[in-house]
Amino acid sequence: MGNCFSHGNKRKSHRHPVSPPPSTSPPPTSAPRTNHGTDTTPNANPTAAAPQQQRQPQPQAPPNPAALGFVLGQPMEDIHDTYEIGKELGRGQFGVTYLATRRDTGEQFACKTIAKRKLIDVEDIEDVRREVVIMRHLSGQSGYIVELKGAYEDKHSVHLVMELCAGGELFDRIIARGHYTERAAAALIRTIVQIVQTCHSMGVMHRDLKPENFLLLNQDEDAPLKATDFGLSVFFKEGEVFRDIVGSAYYIAPEVLKRRYSQKADIWSTGVMLYIFLSGSPPFWAETERGIFNAILRGDIDFACDPWPNISSGAKDLVRKMLMSDPKKRLTAMEVLNHPWIKEDGDAPDTPLDINVLNRLKQFRAMNKFKKAALKVIAGCLSEEEISELSEMFKSMDSDNSGSITLEELRKGLADQGAKLSERELTLLMEAADADGNGTIDYEEFITATIHMNRMDREEHLYTAFQFFDKDNSGFITKEELEQALKEKGMYDGKEIKDIISEADSDNDGRINYDEFVAMMKKENSERQPKSRRRSGAYIGGHWQRHGITETLR
Ligand code: ADP
Ligand code: MG
Repeated sequence: MGNCFSHGNKRKSHRHPVSPPPSTSPPPTSAPRTNHGTDTTPNANPTAAAPQQQRQPQPQAPPNPAALGFVLGQPMEDIHDTYEIGKELGRGQFGVTYLATRRDTGEQFACKTIAKRKLIDVEDIEDVRREVVIMRHLSGQSGYIVELKGAYEDKHSVHLVMELCAGGELFDRIIARGHYTERAAAALIRTIVQIVQTCHSMGVMHRDLKPENFLLLNQDEDAPLKATDFGLSVFFKEGEVFRDIVGSAYYIAPEVLKRRYSQKADIWSTGVMLYIFLSGSPPFWAETERGIFNAILRGDIDFACDPWPNISSGAKDLVRKMLMSDPKKRLTAMEVLNHPWIKEDGDAPDTPLDINVLNRLKQFRAMNKFKKAALKVIAGCLSEEEISELSEMFKSMDSDNSGSITLEELRKGLADQGAKLSERELTLLMEAADADGNGTIDYEEFITATIHMNRMDREEHLYTAFQFFDKDNSGFITKEELEQALKEKGMYDGKEIKDIISEADSDNDGRINYDEFVAMMKKENSERQPKSRRRSGAYIGGHWQRHGITETLR
């Protein structure tokens, strides 16, 4: 590809300010950041070279900005010469991933484009470099890690060209399958732990393992699973201690919250995934992030509620051993792979899991507040006819005709319809539908929670909803307008509005135009992707960042 990477020269790793003594010596200030013309092949040395150990000073102004990009430190190049950039495949805070087609061969790839103006400080730049270095380091090491094909930098952006995963996310596969068994869950987790094992043996800790970061290579039934998004990954040395808090709330290990962790944190996150794959609910659950963290720190695992009584003891044994609060007692990736439940033709039974597990998995993919609020507006303008069935259901549940359903009514209503739900499931369901958090589901909330996605295609509804937010009819939803609208809908929770805006704001002008609004509404779920690596300790689209996290926890 004619691209070179600088994984031969190592950067300081800002995310773990405290490291063992040998690695804290000051770096040679003259170390070059680039080594052009080399390294187009993956690092062939599988030993944990821990390239970050030769620390380097903060990046300085490039010697020749006209020729060398300051992020990758390689000659600037126009990616469009080589690739035709096509439709959008997905997006995060820094990057938008597009379909990219090689002009000469017609081969298709995925291209993650990171706008340089979003790289606000040195650490952001370091993050992008490290993502490139780590992906390159891991390339060719496993058939189950998304391959980096090349990295380009031009005046405005950095582009990472990767192998295309056209099969969607892991969650989609689980949901699409009617037949879902412990054995199937075991096979999935086996692949994931193999990936973790490869990363760890290569000296890389992923730090953001969760179902959303596993993609399927193609649409085939048996498509291989690929790990992606190494944006939060770091190199580690055996025994090295990390202290910066990164990751996604449900999956964060207790020792990460305590700011003293190692690669074992990845095993915890994988254990959380295993629990979710078997039950459809996260093991450490609460309404607020703070509550989630408290649950993680308590570390109690609930095996009493459905479907756990019907799950094999081998599965529970493995979950327990992966979710050991003490990382020293927690299994290593290798030990997990040797567990009898996870082995190929091992103990995992081939009996189907409760169908509700699938339903809950779907539920678990929650929407963001903005979208929920918009759905609420739309629900308010659907005709009676359109929602007659739902409204009948609502009325039958609302036994005292109060206009809102209590937990008790929901329990009875669902039981009347033959649905068997545990207390915990009921609570989850209630939480999911009760957008304003007042403990009851009102008519609007009920309809909102049950509107089918295909209604999203109804332009007139979308336009009405847009107008509801765009108070002054300017064609843009601003920060202030969104805040006001969420307040009106009783959905404002004090979170930073600009973070909610940024989820939909593709052109980064700080406001939402109609096209961006429609794109957000039509996207299946906007909270699936982490939105930001770091922003003053804010919780952004599933990600916690380091600054200010201690205040949240104490
Ligand atoms: P971020 O660091 O911004 O979260 P990701 O690397 O997770 O970025 O990519 C964001 C989204 O782009 C993913 O959730 C996925 O939908 C899509 N995507 C990323 N890599 C690929 C790929 N190789 N093939 C297909 N889609 C991809
Ligand atoms: Mg991601």
